[in-house]
Amino acid sequence: MTEPLIFELSSPGRKGVELPECDVPETPLPKDLIRDDLLLPELSEVDVVRHFTRLSQLNYGIDISAYPLGSCTMKYNPKVNEDAARLPGFAYTHPLQGPEEAQGNLLLMFELQEWLKEIGGFAGVSLQPAAGAHGELAGIMMIHAYHHDRKDDRRIKILIPDSAHGTNPASTAMGGFQSVEIPSDDRGNIDLEALRRECDGTVAGLMLTNPNTLGLFDEHVREIIELVHGCGGLMYGDGANMNALLGVVRPGDLGFDILHYNLHKTFSTPHGGGGPGSGPVGVSERLKDFLPGPIVEAVDEGDENRPPKFDLIFPRKSIGRVKAFHGHFGVMVKAYTYLRMIGKDGLRAVADHAVLNANYLRVRIRDAYRVPYDRICMHEFVAEGAWEDAPGIRALDVAKRLMDYGYHPPTNYFPLIVHEALMIEPTETESKESLDAFADAMIKIAGEAHTDPDVLHGAPHITAFGRMDEVRAAKQLVLRYVPKEKNQI
Ligand SMILES: *Cc1c(COP(=O)(O)O)cnc(C)c1O
Repeated sequence: MTEPLIFELSSPGRKGVELPECDVPETPLPKDLIRDDLLLPELSEVDVVRHFTRLSQLNYGIDISAYPLGSCTMKYNPKVNEDAARLPGFAYTHPLQGPEEAQGNLLLMFELQEWLKEIGGFAGVSLQPAAGAHGELAGIMMIHAYHHDRKDDRRIKILIPDSAHGTNPASTAMGGFQSVEIPSDDRGNIDLEALRRECDGTVAGLMLTNPNTLGLFDEHVREIIELVHGCGGLMYGDGANMNALLGVVRPGDLGFDILHYNLHKTFSTPHGGGGPGSGPVGVSERLKDFLPGPIVEAVDEGDENRPPKFDLIFPRKSIGRVKAFHGHFGVMVKAYTYLRMIGKDGLRAVADHAVLNANYLRVRIRDAYRVPYDRICMHEFVAEGAWEDAPGIRALDVAKRLMDYGYHPPTNYFPLIVHEALMIEPTETESKESLDAFADAMIKIAGEAHTDPDVLHGAPHITAFGRMDEVRAAKQLVLRYVPKEKNQI
């Protein structure tokens, strides 16, 4: 970047604010509270506005253009969610205020629990976990607690299909279980024969992402659940892909015992950049007592003259807290607002349009890109970003070139079972025009891969930085400004 940074623009005496005249007697600060070694930049208002506006433009978000990042459900986040989360009664509650002073907040949490129970078909919900992966860990801990409670401690294995999200085996390992990989068959379902071979008395459970990371609904989900229950295991559902199922299928009705929701995916709260998210867990009747607490309970239903009364309680055999205080309350307010806004019919429409949009894109680009599991998909699909007659071009090149066309790249190199994978999830909030524009860009890039491969190898061409060492960029973050010369500040 050539623009000077904010410290380099600093000029002694320059300022951006005029403080009002002091209308109280001046009192000197105690000496030990005064620091004169804080080197703060001195700038005018316009310098500061330009600095932060420029920084904001280096970023990419759903408010700029389509964000087809597979498995992440980057739908548009309605701004009314933000308004609701900033209502002073919500925003200024202190986490240490007791239930009697936070009845409104507890009502909101209670209703959200109830709606998530209804949406997923579950007997209980806890809003504690901070994200999807955290919900998985809570689920694994419940699986452990359930078997232990029955003095069934031989169960050491969690079965995980090879099309699962990477967090599944990670949560399994953190919970002290051994993960056993189950292969997929050639339609992208779990290989039932392989599953049958692993089902025995050492199975604690199976973690199933359905629709899976190929965007496919497992055609044998009932048999899978029967097999796992048949050998005494529990069924964990990774609910990050609930966008495809809302109002259509309830995992609890299928026989899942646990499912985590990603409020920051399915229920339209912003995500990326490390959070905050929210990953509530829903459970079937036999796991209700093990839910992480506290959860909100209506201790008095109320009537016309009396408002209902809520309290925070721990289920009888709770695995305990998994998060400080009550979880990420601001995220809950946003998800609650979204649900209130779209209602029951709106939820069903979300799933219908998410699935329609993904299938529309799949069919529009499948002559230009190989789609290895080319059957009706759910909310996303996986294409291959490589061609035999375009040697040297990889999925990464396609992804980077999409940035030049103004799009965030799709998820790539995941799931691992597809060679040079590009995982595309348009979500329901893109219009037909926007889907067509994206498909046109994809098709153009497939053409360039054959006619002008160097333009792909060099991409992106329009960003402040070109290709980065992505591992180093993620692992060695440089977050502090270091002046080039000492006297620059
Ligand atoms: C996003 C995702 C997760 C993890 O959720 P986080 O909120 O990012 O921790 C787990 N499984 C699937 C399928 C996902 O897409």
